[in-house]
Amino acid sequence: MNFSKLFLVSLLTFACNNGPKPASVEVVDTTRNEDKKPNIHLDFNEDSAYQYVKAQVDFGPRVPGTKGHLNCYNYLLSHLKSLADTVYTQNTRATTFNKVNIPVYNLIAEFNPKASKRILLCAHWDTRPFADEDTKNTDQPILGANDGASGVGVLLEVANQIKKLNRTDLGVDIVFFDAEDWGDASGATQNSYCLGSQYWSKNLHRSNYTADFGILLDMVGAPNAMFGYESYSLQHVSRYIPLVWGAAAQLGYDNYFKNFERGGILDDHYYIMQYANIPVMDIIDFDPNTESRFGKYWHTHQDNMDAIDKKTLNAVGRTLLKVIADYR
Ligand SMILES: [Zn+2]
Repeated sequence: MNFSKLFLVSLLTFACNNGPKPASVEVVDTTRNEDKKPNIHLDFNEDSAYQYVKAQVDFGPRVPGTKGHLNCYNYLLSHLKSLADTVYTQNTRATTFNKVNIPVYNLIAEFNPKASKRILLCAHWDTRPFADEDTKNTDQPILGANDGASGVGVLLEVANQIKKLNRTDLGVDIVFFDAEDWGDASGATQNSYCLGSQYWSKNLHRSNYTADFGILLDMVGAPNAMFGYESYSLQHVSRYIPLVWGAAAQLGYDNYFKNFERGGILDDHYYIMQYANIPVMDIIDFDPNTESRFGKYWHTHQDNMDAIDKKTLNAVGRTLLKVIADYR
């Protein structure tokens, strides 16, 4: 989510299409369709998910090294400990592109840790320390309601509901990455974003950890959000994408989960695939009306609770629960 990302988005849009309209992409479902359980009741409380987003925003900006960051970390840790079978934390330090030494706290919550079949669900929980896409107060941190809190809020509510699905044969891991968004928007510094996921991917919380596939949520709360196929996901996770987009379509959420390629983004999933060799798709907001292709709120002070719609959180959360319920 920087200029290099924007460059990639533009490049891919330019390379793959003849115009700004996203190309339609056919994703072939090569997964097995047999042996799927009939529809089960999926509980996902959108009010609860919304409150989890708001609770994070109420801590103020969650910029690594600040009080809001530490308070939010303790809040997330206590929530995960109350629900998951095993919770791991990774506390390390990193130096940002602008030479600030920061604490980096990753949180990892395992459900059914002994199961060998596993799904990884992840999001970043930190927020950007400057509003460099805004027109004023650009040196002030953003609230990151959508860019940070939305994915975490959805996953906190998913964590509430996982055990009701009774999938004792399936392991689910929820990972919250720190320090995703303190990156160099000029693109001059390589790999300056995603410091928490880079660390986790190179230093897994337990040896030989792996998952069949993963789903990264980033900016999944905007009103009328639109999610397309992110290009690195399409290249490396094409076998699993239909599980998610198919679940969304079956639930009637194809107004959010659309059939087009949106360009490549150097998000946390990119580093997980590179270093931990786990295929992870990125579900991330797409706005055809902005140059960045993210929403107008992106990296501005407008990324507050007004950028969040419960209906979008609900569509994403219920889709994830259906993926967990159906995956064999
Ligand atoms: Zn961001």
